Amino acid sequence: MTLRLHNSLTGRKEEFQPLEPGVVRMYTCGPTVWGPAHIGNMRSFLLYDLIRRQMRLSGCEVRHVMNLTDVDDRIIEQSDAAGMVISEFTPRWEESVLSDLKRLRAEPAEWYPRATQHVPEMIELISRLLELGHAYAMEGDVYFRIDSFPAYGALSKLDRRGKPVTTRVATDKYEKESASDFALWKAATERDRRVGAAWQTPFGLGRPGWHIECSAMASKYLGETLDLHAGGVDLLFPHHENEIAQSEAANRKPFSRYWLHGEHLTIATGDKMSKSSGNFLTLSDLLAAGHDPVAIRFQLLAGAHYRQRTHLSDEAIRAAAEQVRRLRELELRLSLLVPRPGVDDAAIYETALDGQAAYREAIDDDLNLAQGVGQVFEVVRQANSALDAGRVGTAGREAVLQLLAAADAHLDVLRGDEESLDEDVERLIEEREEARRRRDFATSDRIRDELRGRGLVLEDSREGVRWRRVPASG
Ligand code: AMP
Ligand code: ZN
Repeated sequence: MTLRLHNSLTGRKEEFQPLEPGVVRMYTCGPTVWGPAHIGNMRSFLLYDLIRRQMRLSGCEVRHVMNLTDVDDRIIEQSDAAGMVISEFTPRWEESVLSDLKRLRAEPAEWYPRATQHVPEMIELISRLLELGHAYAMEGDVYFRIDSFPAYGALSKLDRRGKPVTTRVATDKYEKESASDFALWKAATERDRRVGAAWQTPFGLGRPGWHIECSAMASKYLGETLDLHAGGVDLLFPHHENEIAQSEAANRKPFSRYWLHGEHLTIATGDKMSKSSGNFLTLSDLLAAGHDPVAIRFQLLAGAHYRQRTHLSDEAIRAAAEQVRRLRELELRLSLLVPRPGVDDAAIYETALDGQAAYREAIDDDLNLAQGVGQVFEVVRQANSALDAGRVGTAGREAVLQLLAAADAHLDVLRGDEESLDEDVERLIEEREEARRRRDFATSDRIRDELRGRGLVLEDSREGVRWRRVPASG
């Protein structure tokens, strides 16, 4: 089975194949750094994490860009209110988002380009659009001419037949009904100059519109055609429609082959969680309320399919914490198991293999992790019963552990938080490694038992030795 993804461009699930075999070029819209990111933003960022993990698991090298929007209307407003220039104002919020992503175990992207550091690339792109007649200058602003790009509206299914565009918008966000020529470049205001958001260019002193940054940075790092572009559904129109128009008009090549849009995390009333309405929760809020970041990660990733709206309640996070606990507990039980010789464990072995196939099928079906995790828990229940009944042998144990590892390659919830070990414990682990290299298994087993007595269980994996804390024994 191969991965099928719902492509917003065609409205269908399609088999995913990168253009260059073995390499996935993906661009995902990142945060606008004018305050803390909220947990709804994190839902989208964890969708990006899920996509990239699946691409890597399928054997591809991932080249992933997530931009940081560090100049826009709200950043300028907020910097001005704080009496700062934007380059003083935004770093704090960039760090805050990146640190939240780390707490939530999102794999880092290969690039986090900042808009303000790519103004020359944007100028070049806008110049090309001007030359080709896809853009025009007006009183220090530059606008994209929608009528020059007949495919405008293909992503958002906007029907523009017989509706010539005669209006312009300078704001970055607008409704479909008012599709208008949009700003690529905006003449600097007094305030833009005050907060250091003004660049000298061939079109005059000004600053970029929001959409142009993604087109410019995507092609700089990934080339003119991407394999995959993702973002929250709120970005589909006008942001992504405009990215397509800018990039395709300039490059005459398809901009992105697949478009993925993640549904929103809502507040309790069912409305979108949003920063500008002030109706939001941050990761810090949830941690302060005593929640575990790993449970939050689990729930955001596996609580609902990414194309469904969902709400993150306290109860849901607590239930997720319990699910994580059950996964960890089963992994521990299995790793401590000393199978009885000759035990018949065909039943749990088969169950685990079926579970693994069902899990893969769910993931291949448009990344349905919620459904896949449901399959895993079916096996967890049966594995615990089989363990209680003493009906797990080596084959059964390995099969269940393999299923847990397969799910954890997406979930990443089994490992504990990184913590440093005492020096003498580190030394013991090292000595055991050496003993194993000498094939001195008596010593290596003795050290393993000693560490177990101190509350550490070692597991040998292909990536090296892993350890986890358990109640001290002996
Ligand atoms: P922003 O910082 O507002 O530019 O948003 C960064 C990313 O978060 C974008 O991909 C948005 O689509 C996404 N996003 C914003 N609000 C939500 C939400 N309530 N649920 C899921 N994703 C969201
Ligand atoms: Zn974007």
